[in-house]
Amino acid sequence: MTSLDGFAANKLRELEQKHIRRILVDTFREDGVHVTRGGRQFTSFSCNDYLNLTHHPAVKQAAIDAIVRHGAGAGASRLVTGNHPLYSELEARLAAFKGAEAACVFGSGYLANAGIIPVLVGPDDLILADELSHSCLWAGAQLSRAKVLMFRHNSVEHAEQLLAQARAGHGHALILTDGIFSMDGDRAPLAELSALASRHDAWLMSDDAHGLGVVGSGQGSAHAAGTRVPIDLQMGTLSKALGSCGGYLCASQPVIDLVRTRARTLVYSTGLPPASAAAAISALDIIAQEPELVARPLANAQAFASLAGLPAAESPIVPVVLGDEVLALRAQQVLEAEALLVTAIRPPTVPPGTARLRIAFTAGHSHHDIERLARVVRRQILPMQVSA
Ligand SMILES: *Cc1c(COP(=O)(O)O)cnc(C)c1O
Repeated sequence: MTSLDGFAANKLRELEQKHIRRILVDTFREDGVHVTRGGRQFTSFSCNDYLNLTHHPAVKQAAIDAIVRHGAGAGASRLVTGNHPLYSELEARLAAFKGAEAACVFGSGYLANAGIIPVLVGPDDLILADELSHSCLWAGAQLSRAKVLMFRHNSVEHAEQLLAQARAGHGHALILTDGIFSMDGDRAPLAELSALASRHDAWLMSDDAHGLGVVGSGQGSAHAAGTRVPIDLQMGTLSKALGSCGGYLCASQPVIDLVRTRARTLVYSTGLPPASAAAAISALDIIAQEPELVARPLANAQAFASLAGLPAAESPIVPVVLGDEVLALRAQQVLEAEALLVTAIRPPTVPPGTARLRIAFTAGHSHHDIERLARVVRRQILPMQVSA
């Protein structure tokens, strides 16, 4: 065994002992709701495909047509020859829908955050981030080499204290938060954070991966917080409610022009495949035309929370915190026995001691599915919480 293999094997053993080793399971998604694993069919409550658009006939056809017309891949970075015309159409549509001047599309949401943040702040600057911000906001913050301070989850007071202490010693200041928190499902106080940012000459960036297509008539969490809440930088993903793949930033024209010139994950990475851009445009059409579809994931989460006796849902994501990793894995198995798929989420995705089931609702879940899940959660999973 080489020293490299020895290192990997030891590390895996250590992770296994802590019950945080991960494995990939082949999963065949037949539609937006049902999946097959190891020959067994499950109703999935773990997909971020909130509107089931990954399998919508019009979205799939748009992707197929784009492949026929533009090819399977972009062929180069967008700044070289990879900028096929579907990009500008998608960017204009995103900017209009989010109420921004301009937009820039990236290969993924993760790449967007890793690229955008270092363009805007550097070693002399300050970043304040909500402690539960998504991993790729931290990645962007680290790459920027700015001073990073963490504020307590959704605490505008704590963020204000930190700004009062540290703002003066730094050039620019950037506040980072999820719009809807990916593992907790709650919403950020965007109106208050926006006011805080303007009081301290800071810029506000929200990650709306779980808001677009789902809250604020589909326009996202900034829209849900009030139409006139100014947010300098609204990023998000095309890979969740839009059912496609890719990331985006909506901002003013000068900011977008700078990001297009300097974001390394855009400049040095091949453009998004044409099929992904076309699918996202088609999904935006559906979201604009079908308000009843858009309202359903949140309504389903609220129906579930009420049936299971949990606090009211603020988004399609409902967490059931078990604490211990082993307990969370056991809860997943209890649900699997009932043909319900809810993947256990463990550290470091969530803070130590908060391993959980993260239940995600989509438009296509039937009332019967929701009742069945609520019954198992109430009778078998919540009692596990108490015994912990
Ligand atoms: C999923 C997610 C991302 C990453 O988006 P991808 O397009 O899947 O790379 C970014 N931020 C948050 C909050 C997410 O949940």
